[in-house]
Amino acid sequence: MQYDDKPKDECGVFGVFGHPRAVELTYLGLRALQHRGQESSGIVASDGEKLTYHHGMGLVHSVFTDEVLAKLNGHIAIGHNRYSTAGSSTLENAQPLVRNYKQGPLALGHNGNLVNAVQVRNHLENAGSIFSTSLDTEVIFHLIAHSRNQSLEHRILDALRSVQGAYSFVCMDTETLMGARDAYGFRPLWIGRMKDAYVLSSETCAFDVVEAEPIREVDPGELIFIRSVRRGLESMRFHKRQSELSQCIFEYIYLARPDSIMFGESVNNTRREFGRQLAREHPVKADVVIPVPDSATIAALGYAEESGIPFDLGLSRNTFVGRSFMNPTQDIRELMVKVKLNPVRDVLSGKRVVVVDDSIMRGTNSRTLVKIVRQGGATAVHLRIASPPNKFPCFYGVDTPTRGELIASSHTIEDIRKYIRADSLGYLSIGGLLQSVTAPRDFCTTCFDGEYPIPLVEEVSEQLPLI
Ligand code: SF4
Repeated sequence: MQYDDKPKDECGVFGVFGHPRAVELTYLGLRALQHRGQESSGIVASDGEKLTYHHGMGLVHSVFTDEVLAKLNGHIAIGHNRYSTAGSSTLENAQPLVRNYKQGPLALGHNGNLVNAVQVRNHLENAGSIFSTSLDTEVIFHLIAHSRNQSLEHRILDALRSVQGAYSFVCMDTETLMGARDAYGFRPLWIGRMKDAYVLSSETCAFDVVEAEPIREVDPGELIFIRSVRRGLESMRFHKRQSELSQCIFEYIYLARPDSIMFGESVNNTRREFGRQLAREHPVKADVVIPVPDSATIAALGYAEESGIPFDLGLSRNTFVGRSFMNPTQDIRELMVKVKLNPVRDVLSGKRVVVVDDSIMRGTNSRTLVKIVRQGGATAVHLRIASPPNKFPCFYGVDTPTRGELIASSHTIEDIRKYIRADSLGYLSIGGLLQSVTAPRDFCTTCFDGEYPIPLVEEVSEQLPLI
């Protein structure tokens, strides 16, 4: 049960090649990427001859104690933080997955969702493959093992030409670090450099932590691999880059950290521009602009800058809220939101308040949010959403409610306003959203317009891999 009524981050991946402390760097990288997955975490390392690894359920710091880290060693490592978008949340599904095939051990950590995973899996099972997890990631392993090519990179290219969907992954054997990004570029993956070592990461904020310099993003449809520091970065393509990409615009709205560079642009700047554009599209007379912390803070700053209305922090967020009840009543659900957010009465009392949030999914929490702001003494509550109405679920690696649960898929904006009991409600338009990025044709906006750039499962069922 979700109390925060937000899409769930997909996963975070990190990798290091050519550093004697690759394991510790990966641990630090995963801590910087914790916001992309909190259910499980794993690190795999290689000393050039064998892989050592550990996975666990929970946050990075609780999974990797000093004793655990001391058992992992090598100059190559990959790590993964998981939130389950495909497969259930169990230890066996924690990544990176490690498997042995005829050329030795291989490890892979994946961020995204393969839209034809079920079909490919059925096809592989009919051909005799035995799967041990419910992860779509495992499909890639089997395709690599089935390839008739000899070199690992050509086997991976074969595998990637058979899968469809949104993915970025890091992969390693005992000697090589690899990374790839799907041809549409849905999910991010960066390459960085630190002296003689190479680093891969979902977001650049993790490079700052390990003091790596970003080099570039892995190009959509590209497989990169590093075998030796002397040979440096090598690259092959498994797909032509699409003429129009489908990079996930929700990374800017909510998913990525504001201190990251994503798809060539600063998340902070882009998110702030969403707030400015929102103020231009939905001005209102008010005394204070407050964010729903923490994800809407940057957009609220943009709204305040553009509107000239003072910015303040009118909601205090309890960052130590743990797991929720399994089957809450509506009353308990509301109280859970209140545990998380409390009004700051000094800021709100007697004021007309603009509340900026990044998105609305089901709408139940927005209703509680408006109630909390009124309880803080606000005389009017104007809710402003720094993204367009979420009407369609994501099948590309972000966990969103079903279409039936998304309030905007079946209600008008006025209906939603009445339901959440706000004095006014304004969403950023799709045009305004795209106007705020430099290459609008290169973004997926399916959540808002329902135009799925990759056909969904039924339509790809005939396109099976060759094994
Ligand atoms: S559907 Fe939405 S969340 Fe999914 S990739 Fe597209 S923009 Fe991102």
